[in-house]
Amino acid sequence: MRFEEIPGLFDVKQRLINNAKSGRIPHAQLFLGPEGSANLALARAYAQYLACEQKTEADSCGICPACHKMRKMIHPDLHFSYPTVGEKGLSTEFLGEWREIQEKNPYLNVFDWLQFLDQENKQGNISVAECRDIIRKLSLKSFESEFKFLILWMPEYLGKYGNTLLKIIEEPPANTLFLLVAHDQDDIISTILSRTQIVKIPRFSDEEIAEHLLQHGASSQDHAASLAFLSEGNMNKALHLLSQQDTPFFAHFRMLLQMSYARKIPEMMKWSEEAAKFGRENLKHLLEYGINVLRECVLYQSGAGELVKVRGDEQEFAMKFSQLTTTNQLSEMIALLNDSGYYIERNGNPKIVLFNLSLRFKNILSSSRAK
Ligand SMILES: [Zn+2]
Repeated sequence: MRFEEIPGLFDVKQRLINNAKSGRIPHAQLFLGPEGSANLALARAYAQYLACEQKTEADSCGICPACHKMRKMIHPDLHFSYPTVGEKGLSTEFLGEWREIQEKNPYLNVFDWLQFLDQENKQGNISVAECRDIIRKLSLKSFESEFKFLILWMPEYLGKYGNTLLKIIEEPPANTLFLLVAHDQDDIISTILSRTQIVKIPRFSDEEIAEHLLQHGASSQDHAASLAFLSEGNMNKALHLLSQQDTPFFAHFRMLLQMSYARKIPEMMKWSEEAAKFGRENLKHLLEYGINVLRECVLYQSGAGELVKVRGDEQEFAMKFSQLTTTNQLSEMIALLNDSGYYIERNGNPKIVLFNLSLRFKNILSSSRAK
C-alpha cells in the first residue's frame, strides 16, 4: 500500500516519512486513530515505505520487488497479528482471509473482520498462543528487508496475555519494528502503552471521504458528498454505505416525516412493515441518517445555514422542514431516533420500534400542524 492510496492526511504522512528518513526509528509505535480512520492503512504504507528499494521523497515506488510483496502482504519480513476466536487462535491460520479483506477494505473494524470469518457472534481476542507465536516469528532473522515488521492490529484485544510481549517490545531483536494499530488507548494495557511512541491519526474530513468514494464507485459529487456527510469521518462506514447504495435513506426518511406530519396512520404502519425488512444494520444507518438531517434543520433554525452540509433535494427538504418545526420539536425527534436505534441494536422488533417512532413523531408534529 502506498501513501498515495490513502486520501488526505498530508501532515501525518510527512511526519512518518521524515521519521523514516531520520534513521532514528522508534522500535514500537502506536498508530492511534478512531474507528474508520487510516491507522491500519498508514501502518501498512509506512512499512512499505521503509522496505521499498527505490523510495522517493514522498512515497514508496510501488513497483520494486519489495513494494510488490508488501502490497500483496506476502513479504517474508512483514508479519500481522490480529484478533481471532478461541483460546488458541493464531493469526497465521487466517492469513488468507486477512489478505482478502485487506484488499477490499483496509479501514475495517473488528466486527467486519469476525463477520468475514463467520464468527461475528463470538468474542474476538489475541490469544496467549498468538503472543507466543509473535515472539517466535520475531526471533527469526529478517530475510529480505532491513527491517522486520510486526503490524499488531487492535492491541485492545490483548487482555492480560499482552504482558507476555512486554520484554520483546522493550528489547526487540535487532531491526524489528512493532507497529501497533489501535482505536482506543484507554483499552490497551498500560504496560504496553507506556512502551510505545504514539502516532495520532485524525478522522478523515468529509472532503477526503467524498474524494475516496468518487474513486470507488460513487455515482456523482452529490452522492459522494451525502454519503460522506452520513459517515462522520469514518471511512469504513462510508464504504459500507456506498455498497448499500440501493437503500434510499433520504426517500424513506422524508416519507416517514411526511406521513407523520399528515397523520396518515395506515400508511405509517405500512411504511414500518416495509422498512423493517431493511435489516438491523441498514435500519441503524437510516436512523442515524435521520438524526443528521434533523441536526441540519436545527442549524437552519439557529441561523447557521451556511454550515449545512447536505446538498440538492436533501438541502431543500431540510430548509423547508426547519420552517415547519421548532428547535424543541426537533430535539425531541432526535432523542426518539436515538432511542429507536438503541432498541433496534438490542433486538427490538423493528416493525414495532418503527411504528412507535412514527406515532411519536405524529404527536410531536401535531402541535406545529395546528399553527
Ligand atoms: Zn518500492
